[in-house]
Amino acid sequence: MTDEVLEAMLPFLRGQYMNPSSGYAEATAVRNAVEEARSRVAALVGASAGEITFTSGATESINTVIAGMRKMSPGKPILCLPTDHPATLHALTGSNREGAVLYGDVDSQGLADPGSWEKNCAAGIAGATFTWANNETGVIQNADHLVNAAHQHNIPVHIDAVQCLGKMPVNIHETGVEYASFSAHKLHGPKGIGALYIRAGVVLPPFILGGDQEDGKRGGTENVPGIIGFGAAAAIAQRDLDEASLRMAKLRDAFETGLMSELDGLTILSCDVARIPNTSNIYFDGCTAQSLSLLLEPWGVLCSAGSACKTSNPNPSHVLLAMGLSDEQTRRCLRFSMSSLTTAEEVEQGIKLVVDAVRRVRSVQSSRTGPVTVYTP
Ligand code: PLP
Repeated sequence: MTDEVLEAMLPFLRGQYMNPSSGYAEATAVRNAVEEARSRVAALVGASAGEITFTSGATESINTVIAGMRKMSPGKPILCLPTDHPATLHALTGSNREGAVLYGDVDSQGLADPGSWEKNCAAGIAGATFTWANNETGVIQNADHLVNAAHQHNIPVHIDAVQCLGKMPVNIHETGVEYASFSAHKLHGPKGIGALYIRAGVVLPPFILGGDQEDGKRGGTENVPGIIGFGAAAAIAQRDLDEASLRMAKLRDAFETGLMSELDGLTILSCDVARIPNTSNIYFDGCTAQSLSLLLEPWGVLCSAGSACKTSNPNPSHVLLAMGLSDEQTRRCLRFSMSSLTTAEEVEQGIKLVVDAVRRVRSVQSSRTGPVTVYTP
């Protein structure tokens, strides 16, 4: 979180602790602050305030939409992409979830195949969902095409826009989707707070039943400090978007160019298509991602193989597998992320450290040793 966000939240963790739903006068100020935050989030995503429901994060927002689609069209499958975030994939297929799933094809860059998506939209589905900007590669799907294809069959569409906020302009009305999910922590807001966009006039049954908070759309006392932090982060992201996204893109490009000029055997994944400006997923020939990250972590370079939600799970990345990489190739890919706070010096240092790590790993492995893997007891 940025200091500005933290400062905005502090009063609501101290003196202004009142429940926004309470009737007494002091709670009114808290309620007004919650509504102000809602307007700020709505402004960032190009929605109106009444279309924004606060949730505990995108995972809850996504679960709400998928459960709602299934309830409203029982027995019909839901269409998604095999590269979607686990929040979507597991909400669709996890235990106690009933109903079939259709997966649209993706190409080697991670873009949805238009023909496969269109065919699935015509298959009598309950709804369609896709991750707009992929969290592992940064690839931005062609939202217009995917949404229009579904709408031609009157299919409601959900878009996971978590990775987009603060990185690219988002105008959710222009996309035409019925539902969208967001999380504050991707734009220097707090963790554990997110939002669900439900287009005005569209019905979605609540997922969390309880009091009639959030206009009856989500039960439970509001996470007021989280909401205020989300609002503050949204206002900052909107104010700084153009400059921040340009800066991140420049740093990301400098990082990739710097590595490519020092090392051979590198492939930047999805670099031929539109990506959000902060994400760099790199294949390192001759090095496992695990051995590289083991060296890099104590040097202060924190990077991920697969998605952050999966670091304890050594399975190969489902995103990269869907893009056609082999199991072994996926284990040689590392993802680096910039933020609006990353500096040019950090990138320069990062290049040196990654180059050093790659040379070390490559020097200890040979055709006789095979790839260096990390022993986990
Ligand atoms: N969707 C995407 C694309 C994400 O990157 C994430 C989190 O990293 C989520 C959904 C889930 O968000 P949260 O963990 O805040 O619920």
